[in-house]
Amino acid sequence: MVSETAILGGGLAGGAAALLLARGGARVRLLEREAEPHDKVCGEFLSIEAQRDLARLGLDTARLGAVPIEHLRLCAGRTRIEARLPFVAQGISRKQLDEALLEMAAMAGAEIERGVRATGLEPGGVATNRGPCPARRVLLATGKHDLRGARRTAGTARNGYVGFKMHWQAKPGAGDGLEGGIDVILFPGGYAGLQPIAAGVLNLCLIVRRERLAEAGGTWEGLLTELMREPAIARRLGDARPLFAQPLAVADLPYGYVCGPRADLPGHVFRLGDQAAMTASLTGDGMAIALRSAHLAAAALASGEPAGAYHARLARTVSGQVRRAMLLQRATEMPALLRPGLGLLRLWPGLLARLAEATRLPHWQSA
Ligand SMILES: Cc1cc2nc3c(=O)[nH]c(=O)nc-3n(C[C@H](O)[C@H](O)[C@H](O)COP(=O)(O)OP(=O)(O)OC[C@H]3O[C@@H](n4cnc5c(N)ncnc54)[C@H](O)[C@@H]3O)c2cc1C
Repeated sequence: MVSETAILGGGLAGGAAALLLARGGARVRLLEREAEPHDKVCGEFLSIEAQRDLARLGLDTARLGAVPIEHLRLCAGRTRIEARLPFVAQGISRKQLDEALLEMAAMAGAEIERGVRATGLEPGGVATNRGPCPARRVLLATGKHDLRGARRTAGTARNGYVGFKMHWQAKPGAGDGLEGGIDVILFPGGYAGLQPIAAGVLNLCLIVRRERLAEAGGTWEGLLTELMREPAIARRLGDARPLFAQPLAVADLPYGYVCGPRADLPGHVFRLGDQAAMTASLTGDGMAIALRSAHLAAAALASGEPAGAYHARLARTVSGQVRRAMLLQRATEMPALLRPGLGLLRLWPGLLARLAEATRLPHWQSA
């Protein structure tokens, strides 16, 4: 049977789109390559915009055990600058969050197929490892992974970042030590976010330049040994126990990418989430973009709007935020800017909250 819409990828973007389209009465088939619910490389900092878009879908993150995050501590060596966030964010496990959305989508009537990997676009649908999947429209929501025939980065240089994530069990009785806050730790060649995502569970998520990783021996163990010399990391994780046998890792993240109305994609193909735009992880708003893209794509499909118009609207919505986020990320890497920047922040910690505000997804009304 030809589906009206095939959605490739069951992350936040794909799951939210499946839910919205199924609620609207569309025949939807979502293909997810992983057979089981799984963790993802993500800081798991759920911004207020992402919370609002989840609430619009009827998803109660508190019910999933999300913990409030009210403070931001910027740490660089022995420097520690603390400010109240301009909103209450949440720490939440992506494995649980993404799964909850997929369950809601299935309840609404979307067909969710796990363990099915899309291998390329083809006329009239999608090729998969289980054979062809005919579809009138295709939503590309494969996250950081590009599909054959639909590479995101034509003309965009890939940078040399590697991302890692590891969950930790805080020492019993020690709480999480973070007291409702997130530590953003700048270190030579990268930065890390460390925050609680459930009672007593911490998430360490970081990006590091390939050269820096090579200097640390090219392994997670080598890098972690060096990171444990950072006071902010040693303080929280010295007594903690890693919860995964190996960290999750991802490479070559096309930060700064924003898909405009593309001539090189067929008109029935819509990009969502990281396939549409990638903001700097530092700002913790990628999930909000993924959810917003799903809302905008579902609205475009419902009104018969072509993919180009949807891509243009999404680009207008996110371009400013992505540009500012990338400037901030670059500034953290340039000692000549970082040093005076930290000096300024020490004098005026409230500037941290202003920077957080400047890198947010716009409200619906102003989108
Ligand atoms: C280091 C790092 C830290 C981050 N921290 C934060 C943060 O704290 N807060 C925040 O808001 N954002 C953060 N982000 C960004 C955020 O993780 C992403 O923007 C978000 O996950 C994008 O959602 P998505 O649905 O587009 O993709 P994903 O969540 O990656 O989902 C894609 C899905 O597609 C599936 N898939 C892939 N290929 C195929 C295929 N060929 N066929 C079928 N299925 C496929 C995958 O298995 C996956 O389930 C961070 C990103 C990085 C790299």
